[in-house]
Amino acid sequence: MSNLIEDYFQPGWRTRELQCAACDWRGDSRAMTLQPHEDFSEYQCPQCEDIVLVVRHPDLEQVRAAAAVGHPEAQEQLALLQEYLDRASRSD
Ligand SMILES: [Zn+2]
Repeated sequence: MSNLIEDYFQPGWRTRELQCAACDWRGDSRAMTLQPHEDFSEYQCPQCEDIVLVVRHPDLEQVRAAAAVGHPEAQEQLALLQEYLDRASRSD
């Protein structure tokens, strides 16, 4: 079974060592193959391509909440989102 990360901004999931259920490979997300989708990302085992980790992408509320408590990546994402929203509203 693959591991599901519901909260993108929870600390530590990138560097947590996981085991592939199919081939017993062990390692963290940085060694896996990333398959991005619209609402989530899959991380595949580098040996057998089984899906080891699934990370749900944050929605705007989660980004806002994480930014509010000082999460640096969330603050960066929020700044980009804000820029995008400002630009969209100006072109009206
Ligand atoms: Zn594997």
